[in-house]
Amino acid sequence: MFLSIQELVLRDLPIAEVFSPGAVDYFDAHLRQVSDLVVRGVAILRQPTMEILVKGHLSVEMQADCDRCLEPASFPLSLDFDLVYQPLPAAMPEEVVLSPEETEIAFYRGLGIELADVVREQVLLALPMRRVCRPDCRGICPVCGGNRNLVNCGCRQEWVDDRWAALRNLVR
Ligand SMILES: [Zn+2]
Ligand SMILES: [Zn+2]
Repeated sequence: MFLSIQELVLRDLPIAEVFSPGAVDYFDAHLRQVSDLVVRGVAILRQPTMEILVKGHLSVEMQADCDRCLEPASFPLSLDFDLVYQPLPAAMPEEVVLSPEETEIAFYRGLGIELADVVREQVLLALPMRRVCRPDCRGICPVCGGNRNLVNCGCRQEWVDDRWAALRNLVR
C-alpha cells in the first residue's frame, strides 16, 4: 500500500493491511516473519507543512536465530505507532548532518510513503537488541558444540596459559 500525497490531499487514508510472510523484506538473513502481519491505522496529511502522520497498531510474530544457542527464538509483537514524516527538501544534500535534536525526525522523499517501509522499521525497532530464545538460555558449549539447554555435557573449559608453561620449562 502506497500512502500517496495525491490521495492524502483529498482525504485521510484508512490503513487495513495484511502482509503475509515474505511480503516485507527485513534485510536480515537471521530474521523471519512467521505469521501474517496485520496493520490498522490511518495516514493524514498535515498542511501546509506537507508532513505525513501515520498512526495505528500492528501485530506479528517474528522469529530469529537465538544469539546464544542458534535455535529459533520467537518474538510476538503487538505495538502502537504514531509517526510524523517530513518532506525531504529538494535542496537537501545527500549527506545530511543532523543535530542531535533532529535525529528522531523521519523524512520521506517524493510522492509519498510505502507502508511496507513503515512496517519494517517499526518491527526492527521493536525487536530487542539481544535476541535470545529465553532469558536464561545457556548457549552452545565452546568445547563440544552441544546445546547446553538440551544436554548437560559437563565439559570443563581448561585455560592453558603459555607463559606458565614457559616458566615450568625454565625451572625444569
Ligand atoms: Zn537460545
Ligand atoms: Zn560440552
